[in-house]
Amino acid sequence: MMRSHLIKPILDEEYKQISHGSGVYLYDTDGKKYLDGSSGAVTCSIGHGVKEVINAMHDQAKKVSFVYRSQFTNEPAERLAEKLAQLAPGDLNWSFFVNSGSEATETAMKIAIQYWQEKGKHQKSKILSRWMSYHGITIGSLSLSGHTERRARFVPLLDANPVISPPYCYRCPFDRTYPGCQLKCATELETAINRIGSDHIAAFVVEPLVGAAGGAIVPPAGYYEKIRDICDRNQILLIADEVMTGIGRTGKMFAMEHWSVQPDIIALGKGLSAGYTPIAATLVSDSIIEPILTGSKLIMSGHTYSANPQSAAVALAVLTYIEKHSLVEASHSKGIFLLNELQQFKKKFTIVGDVRGKGLLIGIEFVSNTNTKLPFKKDCKVTNLVIKQAQINGLLIYPSTAGIEGVSGDAILVAPPLTITETE
Ligand code: PLP
Repeated sequence: MMRSHLIKPILDEEYKQISHGSGVYLYDTDGKKYLDGSSGAVTCSIGHGVKEVINAMHDQAKKVSFVYRSQFTNEPAERLAEKLAQLAPGDLNWSFFVNSGSEATETAMKIAIQYWQEKGKHQKSKILSRWMSYHGITIGSLSLSGHTERRARFVPLLDANPVISPPYCYRCPFDRTYPGCQLKCATELETAINRIGSDHIAAFVVEPLVGAAGGAIVPPAGYYEKIRDICDRNQILLIADEVMTGIGRTGKMFAMEHWSVQPDIIALGKGLSAGYTPIAATLVSDSIIEPILTGSKLIMSGHTYSANPQSAAVALAVLTYIEKHSLVEASHSKGIFLLNELQQFKKKFTIVGDVRGKGLLIGIEFVSNTNTKLPFKKDCKVTNLVIKQAQINGLLIYPSTAGIEGVSGDAILVAPPLTITETE
């Protein structure tokens, strides 16, 4: 057999090759069929092989595939920015296009810092974040990420540290119970601000539901309202990293809408193009753009492929498809059905400790003892075993981590395309 020179996630592992996809199914070159139960990496939210998206890609390729953003604007990028301004809550009217979720969160960091610089507050440059979080793999976005395993090798390069505990009720970091806890996980932000000094802090970044580093953790009621209030009182911007939760995944177009809390900046990725081509976006509110518009006028960031017309045309076709088929509403109603079905696992399997989520973003946390909630030892690799067996059975699911931060923890994400039917 010819040796592969493709660097794969695990270099010496044999990966099956996918030949094609259709709807919620993928097919490998041996003809095996897989139900895409996690939309790849919570990405392919409208399923595979959607004709409208393929046509949009083809039509745009016939016109032009690359335009350099420093020389020209282009029609699909302009239209996509308009569309996102229409869909986004409140005055989040501005879009900066990039190519991955990591770039979107890193751009959010940069814009937050620049905003305060334009207002003459040069010291406001720290970005606070939570443990048990994932904001990306580039050094800036990894700095914010409270994902111990992904940070470990690069700690000397990482500039920031997550400082806030996650809003993780199943295993409360403060050993309290809601509502008697009085949302200590939120008020801890204020304690951190007081310790560091708000004069040094530009923004606080959150994943509305914790995805890859938490297994779809849903914060308790009132949490985000309190966080917004703390940010406002301390003049700190709130960044919502909706790379995983955005574009209908949780049953709302943007997950922060579940709590009617408007962030100042939103990072989008994954579902924006549903995996058809790389594109991500940083959405910025009028009030954050204003001092830049009247100040230096230049956001000091950008990539060669930013605002790529091909990718923008695809994202527009994906958003049109989502609206046409009411997939945000579908994510809500199918999510209720699926969550209810998966809740039964707690009775059926002794290793299922918790099942949680919103819309079609559902996490299952595995524990060695459901009474004590003790996680499995790290070397048990329960998540890997479950995922491998599911794949053998023809079901794809996404690995996540949860459990006791810095010790161990296992979880999976079930996040099928929003187009899935109840039977599927
Ligand atoms: N932010 C969140 C919440 C994510 O889930 C991810 C990826 O899983 C990222 C950022 C990074 O996105 P990407 O892998 O596209 O760089």
